[in-house]
Amino acid sequence: MDDRSERERRLDALYAAVRDGATVDRQAAFDIAMNELEYFPLHAEASELAEASVADDDETRLASAAAAYLDAYGYEPGTWAGDQEWTAGIFPSDAADDLSALVAVAEQARQAIMESLQYQSTGRVWPACPAHGLGTSPEARHGTGIWWCDGGDGHVAAEIGHWAASQPSRYRTEPGSLSRGG
Ligand SMILES: [Zn+2]
Repeated sequence: MDDRSERERRLDALYAAVRDGATVDRQAAFDIAMNELEYFPLHAEASELAEASVADDDETRLASAAAAYLDAYGYEPGTWAGDQEWTAGIFPSDAADDLSALVAVAEQARQAIMESLQYQSTGRVWPACPAHGLGTSPEARHGTGIWWCDGGDGHVAAEIGHWAASQPSRYRTEPGSLSRGG
């Protein structure tokens, strides 16, 4: 498995961009965030990084999200340095605007993470409504991307990218084989 070395190369590239004040590769940032969210579905910094990576024309947010993520990850720069090309293909080409893109990517992330949680056999959902523990769906309402919960009469569980700081720890996943430094 070369996952770890690939992951480290991505983190190195992200670190270098943040350090140098260069433009952060959105695709790379998104991939890194999704990888983390597979293990820690409610990782606040990874969630912010994922969403910042699809928030067009907001380089400042993306850079600060990347810096916050690296800090939370406990990243220490390795020795690898060099250009890295990233495959495209995650972003929906048919998204009409930023909000549509955000919702579309949030849905893709939800499906990918649900699969990684083996939802079919475990029943684990992501992201779960803090109040009901039910899985939520990304929707655009009143110009804002939100996670909608069908619990009760239905309600907004959270704005996409703005989950409350305190999340039930029982929804966290174990890191598995992922090696975490720090
Ligand atoms: Zn709910």
